[in-house]
Amino acid sequence: MKTRAAVLWDVNQDWKIEEVELGEPGPREVLVKTKVAGMCHSDEHMVTGDLSFANEAAIAMGIDPMFPLIGGHEGSGEVIQVGPGVTHLAVGDHVAVSFIPACGKCHYCAKGQQMLCDLGAKAFTKGMISDGRDAHHIGEEAVNTFAKLGTFSEYMLLSEDSVVKIDQDLPFQAAALVSCGVATGFGSAINRAEVKAGDTVVIIGCGGVGMNAVQGAAVAGAKRVIAIDPMEFKREKAMEFGATHTYESMEEATGAIGALTWGRMADSAIITVGVA
Ligand SMILES: [Zn+2]
Ligand SMILES: [Zn+2]
Repeated sequence: MKTRAAVLWDVNQDWKIEEVELGEPGPREVLVKTKVAGMCHSDEHMVTGDLSFANEAAIAMGIDPMFPLIGGHEGSGEVIQVGPGVTHLAVGDHVAVSFIPACGKCHYCAKGQQMLCDLGAKAFTKGMISDGRDAHHIGEEAVNTFAKLGTFSEYMLLSEDSVVKIDQDLPFQAAALVSCGVATGFGSAINRAEVKAGDTVVIIGCGGVGMNAVQGAAVAGAKRVIAIDPMEFKREKAMEFGATHTYESMEEATGAIGALTWGRMADSAIITVGVA
């Protein structure tokens, strides 16, 4: 079948809307009609080369070029076709995508570290996770998909290990956000900073990721969740997401945090500033 998709042909180029030919779902693959796709800064990193390298560099290194590439790794949708051997998904299921697949069987999945799943090694090279075949084409050219997803597309051909079934009554917008930005920010507070009840946590920068670090710190039971952002709107929203104090700048915050904590300062600081 054909789908329209936003495709990047190399680093430092504009996204182009292309018609892409999708193959049939193979073993343990599903065809998903995209409902919502998020634009994450990691997509911009593919453009700038921070998360990618130019075709010319790949060829010089003797490896397969990453481009052309269908962008997007945040998203949600509905399963409209399943391939052979798919056991936990059926037509009509609602799903969120996962930018790191989780097979549930490898060493790391078994340890509860699905973010290190062996299948993640295939996330940036061309070819389907299941058998390496090229199932996305523009003319004769094989097309890659970001993180084996490519949510900037009307339809997505995915490994069943790359999708998470969600309840039918969950809004697709929320599910799409949870698939990257929410998990990243929330996890930075819960897993990386290991925020404990009673902690003082400072979150510097309250964009999509930082706002969810605020939420994660609040859910973890932090006594003080201190959000720093120059934009008033974001400071107001941070209070809705669980911040206890907000400041406009580091200069303003530093003395205030000292006073709040009797000079002990924060137990953890989560830096989620932009790159502008
Ligand atoms: Zn992302
Ligand atoms: Zn695994």
